[in-house]
Amino acid sequence: MRCVVCGTAMKTRRENFKYDACGLPYVTLAGVDVSRCPKCGEFEVAIPRIEELHRVIATAVARRRGRLEPVEVRYLRKWLGWSGTDFAAHMGVSAETVSRWEGGSQRIGSTADRLLRLMALSREPAREYSLDLLKAVDAETPPSFRIGLEAKRGEWQAAVA
Ligand SMILES: [Zn+2]
Repeated sequence: MRCVVCGTAMKTRRENFKYDACGLPYVTLAGVDVSRCPKCGEFEVAIPRIEELHRVIATAVARRRGRLEPVEVRYLRKWLGWSGTDFAAHMGVSAETVSRWEGGSQRIGSTADRLLRLMALSREPAREYSLDLLKAVDAETPPSFRIGLEAKRGEWQAAVA
């Protein structure tokens, strides 16, 4: 493999690679192939199964003790695939508040911290929990709501109207 910057042949070896590019300062990948240019210092790292890796990191962050740090709020928000505006809408706060959480000028509140962790840990179900539904939570006049239940084939089944 040739260096994309200077064309020198790169040397590849297994390294413990500090994965700063994920946005978290404390993630190290053990034994990944890193190719380095001996002339200019350019490098390339081969990271396998990156989607799974990002999920495992998200789970570890969501399970850590202590209030989430600004970089962790940003990591989980990006991992959930949301812009700052999307995230603000999901959390029921202003976009400015999200900026302050991620910039470090305001600590994320404990309720928001828990909600973000829950969304990260239950990513697939959270997709079902749509933004329209979350926005409706704040409706001044609750729409009429009824749940009809019927026991069918040994299971209670709900019909929401
Ligand atoms: Zn080079």
